[in-house]
Amino acid sequence: YQPVVSADGQIDGFEALLRWTNKKLGNVSPVKFIPVAEDTRLIGPIGEWVLQSACREAVNWPESTKVAVNVSAEQLSSPGFIGAVVKALSHSGLTPSRLEIEVTESVFLREVSGAMATLDQVRALGVKLVLDDFGTGYSSLGYLRMGQFATIKVDRSFVQGALKGNRESIAIIRAVVALADSLEMSTTAEGVESQEEANAIIALGCKKLQGYHFGRPMPASDARAIFAKTLDLRAPKVA
Ligand code: C2E
Ligand code: CA
Ligand code: CA
Repeated sequence: YQPVVSADGQIDGFEALLRWTNKKLGNVSPVKFIPVAEDTRLIGPIGEWVLQSACREAVNWPESTKVAVNVSAEQLSSPGFIGAVVKALSHSGLTPSRLEIEVTESVFLREVSGAMATLDQVRALGVKLVLDDFGTGYSSLGYLRMGQFATIKVDRSFVQGALKGNRESIAIIRAVVALADSLEMSTTAEGVESQEEANAIIALGCKKLQGYHFGRPMPASDARAIFAKTLDLRAPKVA
């Protein structure tokens, strides 16, 4: 679970990032095993497990803290997907608005498979939609309108470019923020690794930030411990 913080430093939520430790292979990156899971159709049950686990974990956090789950195009187009979301919510008791589903533009390339209809159903449950990796693919404005996303995630490459003073990166972040603001969407900058990057990104108007500077992906117990600490600070000291 990796923290996503608001510009004032409060934890807005956590993104669930899947980890696999294999006896022989050690730690395998999701960049490697997710495509294999998709090809072998194992992504369905794995994705269902991720949804269940993430929702069950999030109910331990303060009421306003969200959890974001990545969903690939293959998952979205599988017939059991909506059922899996409903089950994860009902079994955990998580308020639907605390669950965010992150998809990339690639889901729209498979329109035949009815991704749009599925996203509509997800939204009808009260779950928020997040457009991941914006700026890396087609970055079609039409997709922004179609998906009715609550948040757009600006890819890490622009965050890095902005700090280096790269004019194109700065212009793209500004344009995405302006667009998101007028469409009443939020923006999250991905991969913020330093205070300098955070300052530059906040100055450009991004509402939320995520990256190693604020916290690496961590086990569920460490995420819980963050809240235990803040609660501890707030609790009155008894002599
Ligand atoms: P993503 O959704 O774009 O996730 C962000 C990736 O950036 C994560 O890599 C995260 O660990 C990494 N990251 C976060 N902050 C920083 C930073 O400050 N600097 C750098 N260099 N990297 C940072 P990770 O965990 O290896 O995940 C890679 C991709 O695997 C994810 O990209 C997502 O597309 C996919 N993935 C992860 N978990 C799941 C899952 O449960 N289901 C599906 N379908 N895909 C997943
Ligand atoms: Ca993501
Ligand atoms: Ca991303």
